[in-house]
Amino acid sequence: MIAEVIVDVAHSDVDKIFDYVADDTVKAGMRVAVPFGNNRGTTTGFVMRVKEKSDYPAEKLKEIYRVEDDVPAINEECLSLAEKISARYRCPMALSLRLFLPAEMRTGKVGKSYREYARLSEELPPLNPRAKVQLACIAYLEEKGEAPLSELREKFSSAVGVLIKNHALIVEKRRMFRVPYRSVEGGEEHHTLTPAQRHAVEAIRTTDKTVSLIHGVTGSGKTEIYLTLIAEALSQHKSAIFLVPEISLTPQMFSKLRGRFGPKVAILHSGLSAGEKFDEWERLRAGDAKIAVGARSAVFAPIENIGCIVIDEEHDGSYSSESTPRYNTFDVAYLRAKYHGCKLILGSATPSVDTYRRAMSGEFGLISLPDRINARPMPKVNIVDMRREVRRGNATPFSIALREKLKLCLENGNQAIIFLNRRGYAQTVMCRDCGNVVKCKSCDVALTYHSDEDCLKCHYCGAKYKPLSACPVCGGTHIHYMGTGTQRVVGELKRFFPAARILRMDVDTTSGKEGHYKILKQFADKKADILVGTQMVAKGHDFPSVTLVGILDADMSLHFPDYRSGERTFQLITQVAGRSGRAGAEGEVVLQTYDPDNYILRFAANYDYEGFYEHEIAMREAMMFPPFVKVVRVMVTGEDEKETLAALRTLYEKLQKIYAAHEEEFLFFNRMHSPIKRIQNKFRYQILMRMTRSAPLKEVYAAVAEEKFKDVLVYVEENPSNLS
Ligand code: ADP
Ligand code: ZN
Repeated sequence: MIAEVIVDVAHSDVDKIFDYVADDTVKAGMRVAVPFGNNRGTTTGFVMRVKEKSDYPAEKLKEIYRVEDDVPAINEECLSLAEKISARYRCPMALSLRLFLPAEMRTGKVGKSYREYARLSEELPPLNPRAKVQLACIAYLEEKGEAPLSELREKFSSAVGVLIKNHALIVEKRRMFRVPYRSVEGGEEHHTLTPAQRHAVEAIRTTDKTVSLIHGVTGSGKTEIYLTLIAEALSQHKSAIFLVPEISLTPQMFSKLRGRFGPKVAILHSGLSAGEKFDEWERLRAGDAKIAVGARSAVFAPIENIGCIVIDEEHDGSYSSESTPRYNTFDVAYLRAKYHGCKLILGSATPSVDTYRRAMSGEFGLISLPDRINARPMPKVNIVDMRREVRRGNATPFSIALREKLKLCLENGNQAIIFLNRRGYAQTVMCRDCGNVVKCKSCDVALTYHSDEDCLKCHYCGAKYKPLSACPVCGGTHIHYMGTGTQRVVGELKRFFPAARILRMDVDTTSGKEGHYKILKQFADKKADILVGTQMVAKGHDFPSVTLVGILDADMSLHFPDYRSGERTFQLITQVAGRSGRAGAEGEVVLQTYDPDNYILRFAANYDYEGFYEHEIAMREAMMFPPFVKVVRVMVTGEDEKETLAALRTLYEKLQKIYAAHEEEFLFFNRMHSPIKRIQNKFRYQILMRMTRSAPLKEVYAAVAEEKFKDVLVYVEENPSNLS
């Protein structure tokens, strides 16, 4: 037999099939150790296919050293999916194959874990009646039946060894599975579906479209719809994938799922320990677990016979990968759904503009859930003009209205969430007198202050502007660099409400894989009155006692230098507002802004997604932004600036030929520094393009893939979710 092998070396020079002689235990999808290169080196490889004959002369073929798996690690479907990903994103096969395995498994750092159990032998040998400890151990096992050996050794020390030697005990090694989130209890009652939920399930069941979008307001009961569809897949002996955007969200969802499906659920995400990850993955591969839950990487779950795939909060930016291959989770999920002939369900209260457009065009099924469960009202959103507060001399981050409502909320024994709208590095500059934010003349996106050059820059075209000393609109001199820290907000809150118990949730307070969960659990258990946090507190949490949400600096993301800043702001506000008034008491939201007439904020305050969408899509078309065009970035990074620049030049010249031949399909083509010039000692340059959807993007990928640089990393991004 001949095995076609891809060696696990991420380099394009060896990115091809190598034939090896194999025996008939070798199957496609297994990992093998093979001789490779000169000097009798060894490397791991993936068997892509097995065949009878090679086209190579027999004397040139080498033999496989060793087979690493007793069953294929990657199934047929996933092998072909890896090929598609490689072709689509132009990356070596080794890199796309790696997506399908837990990283530590590949590097051999983790394996199966076993535990020894002891029980009494059928025929006990004669015992010494004076050996009290031995007798106690036997009595213990007579009662228990069996026990872990380690436990017996702890209890009965050396007597255990003697009993084993005398064949009084039989020891058996058993596979032990390391289970993540042991502390998470399975909970959640089983709901009877409402008519709206039933209608949604029915619509998804009967549609002939692969993709369905559930556009349901926060609290409309989308989760129950997913669970019903997943249960249905299970009852047909099929499996399911359930993707959620953030690790912080996973434990809550996971406990719901575990309550419902028990050990059939496996969780996959990068925050688990190596052993847990490996075991959960193995349970899925072996078919012991049927539902893969997790962040985007769970889309590669090693399961067969998939009955449905769910992408919750489909608009979330975390669904685009930030390392090579820069896949889009939807694209991968779609390929899997097509392969299995199953449904792909997207859910969101604020679908991405692109997804909604595809649903409107009829490409995706569209299900709307405009009402909350039990017709609970959406919380009222009060827009507060912060310019007035500044004029009144209130320099704190809290408006008077928010302070009053907080006081009331606490007096009534309810809980509040204070949301700080802060994003990454961006320092947007704003006039606090009139709320004016300076934008690029040619791109209409907010400029960003760069302290190293003391200038304002456009992240889309690279244009530079002088920093402001006075506002060009009103002449005011209260120029403000946005971005208040959570710590300061907590400090001020304590000053106003000394008795309140305050929890802070941001990157500094959430270390460890269960860090998020612990904070959220404390809040859910009402061990705190106010939760202060950044984006992390915005996501799908369900806290019944929260009746007030305060949004500080709503403008922060509005003026983020990105064409999606309006969309992101709308999503954020809707998501955070949705945390309020989910149970009994009516909820309220205070939205603080320096731009109270902004249409995005108005639409968000009225929960008018359609209005927002119509406006946004018209603007995107007029300004020629995605989904009407593609923003493509070729990123060039390296530690040596000269080498990096040389690579940039080579690529630029090459791409320029494509540009010259298709000039009419490009709206923009240029090279420049990236907005952040250096990250982790690597210089960052980019070639930025805006092109029509019919432009030869494949040629761009191919041109980039052809060039090899020694110490410079190059990658292509389409509509990157982060342009820093
Ligand atoms: P969404 O995901 O759309 O924001 P959830 O699925 O979290 O909404 O549901 C909101 C709340 O309604 C949850 O507390 C959930 O337990 C409850 N719920 C969902 N479906 C039902 C139902 N059929 N009957 C009663 N309560 C329900
Ligand atoms: Zn510009």
